[in-house]
Amino acid sequence: MVAGNWKMNGLPSSAAELRKMIEALEGGAPCDVLICPPFPLIAPFVRDGADSGIEIGAQDCHRAESGAHTGDVSAALLAAIGARAVIVGHSERRADHGESDSLVRAKAEAVLAAKLLPIICVGETEAQRDAGEAEATVLAQLDGSLPDDAQIVVAYEPVWAIGTGRVPQMADIAAMHGAIRRAMVARYGEAGQGIRLLYGGSVKPGNAKEIFAIEDVDGGLIGGASLKADDFLAIVAAA
Ligand code: PEP
Repeated sequence: MVAGNWKMNGLPSSAAELRKMIEALEGGAPCDVLICPPFPLIAPFVRDGADSGIEIGAQDCHRAESGAHTGDVSAALLAAIGARAVIVGHSERRADHGESDSLVRAKAEAVLAAKLLPIICVGETEAQRDAGEAEATVLAQLDGSLPDDAQIVVAYEPVWAIGTGRVPQMADIAAMHGAIRRAMVARYGEAGQGIRLLYGGSVKPGNAKEIFAIEDVDGGLIGGASLKADDFLAIVAAA
């Protein structure tokens, strides 16, 4: 899977980039391809992307199905307008909105209840890596953030690699994905082998192939490079 996280970028005119992607993948995408634009662009993008090789997802949702939560959006509404997946627990939401592991887990459960695919993000800060705590941090986040249902995708995104152009050593990505895979199997049994583990953090056309070749890297969560069709398509081709 290659998933694009547009974050707070994009305007209605950005549909032109999406259309470029759709046209390029018309003959069939080589893997699952997802674009997660800001909320107001989801419905028009679903219309544009219908029957194409690109699914549309969201970047967040509320834990509740409905109710008095001003400014929030439910997974049920996202499902109703045609979204297929929801990113939960992105480090920018954990940092900007103080989202805890237990809230991320509740959101993942809400996504599953709406019959959508949760993409659950985890990752250490630079200070945690420097202190030798990267793996313990990620495993603790998984422990607190994962729902009981194995119908999930996990994205490992070192916080210090997001939007910085810095990428971990390939051996460090391999070690972390191996540890995450073992945690998935310990938690879900055999089903844990089939859970897709995405790497995210400064994936670009120039490094995607090397990253995707690592064992237990089953695709990528792409920020900046998902905004331009040419870059995103090159990453999809690498996958
Ligand atoms: C992200 O925000 O999920 C991300 C990986 O961003 P970037 O690719 O820009 O580092």
